[in-house]
Amino acid sequence: MYKCNNCNSIDKFELMFSEKYNGNRNFTQKYNARQQIEITIDGHTFIPTLDFMNEHAVCKYCGQIYIWDYE
Ligand SMILES: [Zn+2]
Repeated sequence: MYKCNNCNSIDKFELMFSEKYNGNRNFTQKYNARQQIEITIDGHTFIPTLDFMNEHAVCKYCGQIYIWDYE
C-alpha cells in the first residue's frame, strides 16, 4: 500500500482514478506469484510501483500528485 504524504490517506488504488478519467473504471486487483499487487483497469494490467504512483497517481482526497510513499 501507499500513503499520501500530503494528507496521510492510505491508497487502496481506486484513489488513482482522475476525476476526468472517462473509462469504465472496471477495477480488479490480485497478488501475483511474487506477491506483487497487479492492478487491472479496463483491460490494462500493471504493477503499481512507487515510481508509477509518483508519476501518475492523484490522491482522491487532497488532489495532490507526486506525493506517495510506502506504507
Ligand atoms: Zn492526499
